Amino acid sequence: MATAGSSSSSSTPAKRLEGKVALVTGGATGIGEAIVRLFREHGAKVCIADINDDAGQQLRDALGGDDVMFVHCDVTAEEDVSRAVDAVAERFGGALDIMVNNAGITGDKVTDIRNVDAGEVRRVLDINVHGVFLGMKHAARVMIPRKSGSIVSLASVASVIGGMGPHGYTASKHAVVGLTKSVAAELGRHGVRVNCVSPYAVPTAMSMPHLPQGARADDALKDFLNFVGGVANLKGVDAMPKDIAEAVLYLASDEARYVSALNLVVDGGFTSVNLNLR
Ligand code: NAD
Repeated sequence: MATAGSSSSSSTPAKRLEGKVALVTGGATGIGEAIVRLFREHGAKVCIADINDDAGQQLRDALGGDDVMFVHCDVTAEEDVSRAVDAVAERFGGALDIMVNNAGITGDKVTDIRNVDAGEVRRVLDINVHGVFLGMKHAARVMIPRKSGSIVSLASVASVIGGMGPHGYTASKHAVVGLTKSVAAELGRHGVRVNCVSPYAVPTAMSMPHLPQGARADDALKDFLNFVGGVANLKGVDAMPKDIAEAVLYLASDEARYVSALNLVVDGGFTSVNLNLR
C-alpha cells in the first residue's frame, strides 16, 4: 500500500504518453506543432486537426508512420470537430485520451475600442471560445464512457490580465478559463480532467507580427526574443513553443492525475510579480 509521501510509480517514465491517443487542434504550426512533436516523442498516437491542409499534411509526412494522422478541421464548424473526433477513435481503437484545444487567433490588433470592428470580435470569440467548447463537447462524448481523459486548452496571459492583446482576444481567453472550470466541474465524476495553459509570448506566426515596427525580417526571431526578454521577469530564457508544449504534456500525462480545473500560467512569472523590482 502506498504510504503518505510515496506514490505507486517511483519515477517518471521516459515515454509519458505511451499507448495514449491525442487530438491537437491547430496542430499544423506554432505551439500546436510543438505539442504534436513532443507527444509523438512520448509515444502518443496523434491526430493533427487544422484548417491549414498543406502544413498539416507536411507535418504528418515528416513525422511518418501509422501513428500520426491529419484531418481537415475548422474548429468553428461542429460537423468538422465531430468528424475529427470520430476519425481518431475509428483509426485508433475507439480511443481518445487527450484533447488539446489549441487553435486560436488574435484578430485585428486595433486597441481603440471606438474603432474595433464588432464582426471581428465575434470571429475571434467563434474560434477561441466556441471552438474550444466544441472540442470539449465532442471529446467528452468519447471520454465519458471510457471514464478517463485529459482535455487541455490553450488560453494566454490575456486570460488573467488586460492589455495583453485586443479586447476580443482578452475576453476570449478569460472565457477559456471559465469553460475549463465549468467543464472540469462536470466531468470530474467521469474521471476526465480539464485544464488550460496560459503562455506569455513565444515565437510563432501569431506572435511575430507583434514585433516592434522596423524589425528586419532576417533578424525577426532575434528581435522578437530580445523584445520579449526585455519585458519579461525571468531573464536569460528565450521561451519557445516547446516550453509551452512541455506544460501541456504534463497536464495530458498521468503525472497530473490529481490536477483539474487549473489554469497553468507559463510566463516566467510575468503576470505574478512586480516587474519594477527587476
Ligand atoms: P499560430 O497562428 O502559429 O498557429 C495556430 C494554428 O491554428 C495554425 O496552424 C492555424 O492554421 C490553426 N487554426 C487557425 N484557425 C483555425 C480554425 N478555425 N480551425 C482549426 N485550426 C485553426 O498560433 P500559436 O501562436 O501557435 O497559438 C496557438 C495557441 O496558443 C492559440 O490559442 C493562442 O491564442 C495561444 N497563445 C499563443 C501565444 C504565443 O505567443 N504564440 C501566447 C499566448 C497564447
